[in-house]
Amino acid sequence: AWGKAKVALQTTVGQNNYKNWISPLQLMSIGGGVAHFSVPTSFAGTWVERNFSDQLLHALADAGAGAHRLDFSVAEAATAAPNNTNATPPPAARIAAAAAAAEKDQPSASLDARFTFDSFVVGKPNQLAYSAARRVAEGGHVTFNPLFLYGGVGLGKTHLMHAIAHQLSVDRPDLKVVYLSADQFMYRFVRALREDGTMEFKELFRSVDVLMVDDVQFLAGKNSTQEEFFHTFNALVDQNKQVIISADRAPTELKKIEDRIASRLQSGLVVDLHPTDYELRLGILQKKVALYKNDYQGLEIGENVLEFLAHRITSNVRVLEGALTRLYAFGSLVGKEITLDLAQDCLVDILRASDRKVTVEEIQRAVSEHYNMRLSDMIGPKRHRTIARPRQMAMYLAKQLTSRSLPEIGRRFGGRDHTTVMHAVKRIDELKLADSQLADDLQMLQRMLEA
Ligand code: ADP
Ligand code: MG
Repeated sequence: AWGKAKVALQTTVGQNNYKNWISPLQLMSIGGGVAHFSVPTSFAGTWVERNFSDQLLHALADAGAGAHRLDFSVAEAATAAPNNTNATPPPAARIAAAAAAAEKDQPSASLDARFTFDSFVVGKPNQLAYSAARRVAEGGHVTFNPLFLYGGVGLGKTHLMHAIAHQLSVDRPDLKVVYLSADQFMYRFVRALREDGTMEFKELFRSVDVLMVDDVQFLAGKNSTQEEFFHTFNALVDQNKQVIISADRAPTELKKIEDRIASRLQSGLVVDLHPTDYELRLGILQKKVALYKNDYQGLEIGENVLEFLAHRITSNVRVLEGALTRLYAFGSLVGKEITLDLAQDCLVDILRASDRKVTVEEIQRAVSEHYNMRLSDMIGPKRHRTIARPRQMAMYLAKQLTSRSLPEIGRRFGGRDHTTVMHAVKRIDELKLADSQLADDLQMLQRMLEA
């Protein structure tokens, strides 16, 4: 019932209030007309009581758990929080303390109420990941285990994971769902070691029904945490409990993660989120505009402005959203309709940053660093293979990643002829098929240069 009530509260109190005040609440018991909640701090209790009592009572009643009075008591963890010698912490500190204390009680990190399946826009680049996430969120029998989602920054991995958790909390409130980032996992593990609580830690994580760990690339090089993660992972998968993992790259490309762990991670379903295309970006903008409609009444953003943004801001969805938010803020400040001109003025810096192109010089530097050669050898005359091959790769990358012509590229490689560049491009294209090490290197360099 509390799960259901919480979902309703997300709309009645607003997302920010929900996140700060309602989500840290835990319903301890309900009986005799009284609902007992545990709160992270007494301040949070007073605040919730004063501001959200009506909404809470209503939501509980609608969820079939009627009460006429609310009671709040401070969770024990909060009194043990460090720094409570400070008698009147500023509000921000209180909120942070509340969040930290709430985290101590529940293994799950807090979820962003906005990240639901409804607010997720599906397009070709994320279709597969979306379908897989939906499937897992049905929570029936476990089919893909683990589900491994990967893709670049801001493509919606965290959004999908939260959406799964939200959906399960509505449809399957009986399941214990835990979502946290890999660094939170590590933080908890390290704390458990320090506080002699490894048994509790193990029990806690091995008793969940659905475990989601976000951004596992952060476990790189953290050997003991990896080990513990691996045991947790195996224990859950063996019990047929759903595990969902995300990372910024494929399991095979995770660096400093033990091979047996990486290979176990890809034993279920691996799906990637591709970079967005124009259509998807426009769809996301349109969706956001529809969602913002109530917050910014009377403030219109024309379709041509959205199309412009979708064309020009291609890096990541977060930047796209930032641009839109800025336009709204600006528009409501100056009280004007947001025209294309106004948008261009207001977003110069964002637009300039997303226009940033890779230069031939950056490519030369990256390639020479990768192969431990001198930058001057890129433009110098040496023809030994250990130098000529990387030089050809740099030429190839220059052709792929910049808009320079062959003669222009040649000139930047110490005045070489355009036919030399053409030959390099052809040669590397051939080698890419035959030499997987070279293909990997190229891919890695390209990703690094485009980041
Ligand atoms: P990641 O975890 O992959 O770095 P996030 O899930 O944090 O990315 O997404 C970044 C932002 O972009 C979030 O605000 C998210 O809601 C939004 N976003 C990304 N993809 C989509 C999508 N397909 N539809 C709607 N919003 C999206
Ligand atoms: Mg993320």
